[in-house]
Amino acid sequence: ESNKKSILITGGAGFIGSHVVRHFVNKYPDYQIYNLDALTYAGNLENLKDIEQKPNYHFLKGDISEVDLVNQLFKEYRFEAVIHLAAESHVDRSIKDPLAFVKTNINGTINLLNASKSVWADNFDGKLFYHISTDEVYGTLGETGLFKETTAYSPNSPYSASKASSDHFVRAYGETYGIPYVISNCSNNYGPFQFPEKLIPLMINNIVEKKELPVYGDGNYTRDWLFVEDHVKAIDLIFHKANLQETYNIGGLNEWKNIELVKLLCDLADEKLGRERGTSKKLITFVKDRPGHDKRYAIDASKIDKELGWKPSVTFEEGLSKTIDWYLENATWLQNITSGEYREYYNNQYN
Ligand code: NAD
Repeated sequence: ESNKKSILITGGAGFIGSHVVRHFVNKYPDYQIYNLDALTYAGNLENLKDIEQKPNYHFLKGDISEVDLVNQLFKEYRFEAVIHLAAESHVDRSIKDPLAFVKTNINGTINLLNASKSVWADNFDGKLFYHISTDEVYGTLGETGLFKETTAYSPNSPYSASKASSDHFVRAYGETYGIPYVISNCSNNYGPFQFPEKLIPLMINNIVEKKELPVYGDGNYTRDWLFVEDHVKAIDLIFHKANLQETYNIGGLNEWKNIELVKLLCDLADEKLGRERGTSKKLITFVKDRPGHDKRYAIDASKIDKELGWKPSVTFEEGLSKTIDWYLENATWLQNITSGEYREYYNNQYN
């Protein structure tokens, strides 16, 4: 197996991670893909049912905040590259429990960096630590402007502060110990397998169930949206072609005010569900704003376009339509997830 690249993907049972794992397992049969995931509320092996039997796929259950476990796995499997996605990822949860975010997002990332450093032992040829991050590290924008790779970090939520910190540690390990790294900061993703605490699947689920559609504040918060499969294509390109010790911004060139997005979802879903146009919009209710809520995020993705030739390929209407279809066709997946813990979370959050 020595000629086969051994790749650790963390958080592969989550939303984006499961798309990344599936893509690498299917497209690169010569790579051995190790998916390390603690299976928190957000991790679900159902997301990978279609590839779990593939000979180049291996699941490792474990928590990246546990030092001994992480060191032992690196010694045993001699990973040559890491694609690090494991994280606590939901801003609202970070407001309730910041330390959980420190533990996984900061301590967990440092454990992976230390283990890489120790197993690679200065032989960095062909090695890579690829850290997946978010545009939220840059803070908020006014009506105009775009986040560039050179924009100063200014995180406003415990989630984005923990991600910003992990980005800094990755960069510092590159500078201090020479670890070959690359970081990408991406805007909001959407698509199949996204946990229904996040805006788009939450709204689809509530539209289907004819429940209220909770929109924060005045609904004028603006986000850039990217179809998850376009993010995966960018990750593949960056993994194989990016210049080392660099950061790349990834975005959909697709800004929407939350309220406009929810209305669009209502119209698309009404059509698919055979409901009269306008039916679901009546479910929209404005709820108390999230504290520290960032007004607007938008990405300048010209660096990855120029250097690696990446652009989003799926239009928003196409992506949303595929996503709604997927949630309608996978009612069991949704039901399994929206029982138990999720229901408790939802009731605390919105009722
Ligand atoms: P997710 O919450 O859906 O999945 C996170 C995964 O990490 C889950 O499978 C969970 O079980 C696992 N995990 C959590 N804590 C762990 C731990 N201590 N040890 C091992 N595994 C653990 O998240 P996502 O939306 O797929 O995001 C993945 C990554 O991409 C995160 O690093 C996030 O910051 C980043 N990101 C997400 C978005 C987005 O819009 N979702 C945008 C930009 C960047």
